[in-house]
Amino acid sequence: MNLKQTLLTFLENNLFLKNGTCPICGKVLFVTDRFLCHQCEDDLPIINNPTCIRCGRPIFDADRHVCIPCAKLNLPFSGGYAYLNYKDSGKKLVHAIKFNDRPHLGIWVGTQMGVDMARFPWVNGVDLIIPVPLHSNRQSERGYNQSEKIAQGIREGLSQNNHRAPELATDILIRSRDTPHQIGQGREERLCNLTGAFNVEHIETIQNKTILLVDDVLTTGATLAETSLTLLEAGAAQVFIATLCAVAE
Ligand SMILES: [Zn+2]
Ligand SMILES: [Zn+2]
Repeated sequence: MNLKQTLLTFLENNLFLKNGTCPICGKVLFVTDRFLCHQCEDDLPIINNPTCIRCGRPIFDADRHVCIPCAKLNLPFSGGYAYLNYKDSGKKLVHAIKFNDRPHLGIWVGTQMGVDMARFPWVNGVDLIIPVPLHSNRQSERGYNQSEKIAQGIREGLSQNNHRAPELATDILIRSRDTPHQIGQGREERLCNLTGAFNVEHIETIQNKTILLVDDVLTTGATLAETSLTLLEAGAAQVFIATLCAVAE
């Protein structure tokens, strides 16, 4: 092996993660990077505007407290948290977790959320964390449910903060109908499409419980509203939501 080769092998083994590229900008990751390169991690569009107290999406008028969709549709959440704005690198991150086979990225980003969420007093009252399920067909296509990975991370993040970590329950909420992709549909159409799409199993587990429902993206809130109603009708006391990304009102 000549010097150049030795040097290259050394660099490959010691500076770069094997096959690791930043899912946002595509740059090769250094060993000191985590799941994103430093630059992309610093530039994440973290939500710090005033947010809707019910769903966590950014609002522009702090005096209102509740966003337009929550107020208009009386969405059934007791409170909510969203980590990133659904734009630019926030969008790319969701895409990478969903379609590029990066379950560990989902857990990592969920952990950041859990650490951040510990500041909300309502988090202390959560009994169970439930991810919004995929239909079993879609889950076997993808290999995992991205919302479950995020939920796993949230639990991890909460426990890092010396917080009581609520249990993660993945066998309670079941997607019984494979609903068509919702892109390009209006809110009314989306809500109709989802009616009856979810079932609750082990109903006794959720009686009078406070649930944190986790999803990847909050757009109209239709999926989270339908799943929350299903849980509330089945006996849950309250439902809070946490999403990785939210569309501003
Ligand atoms: Zn990057
Ligand atoms: Zn809202």
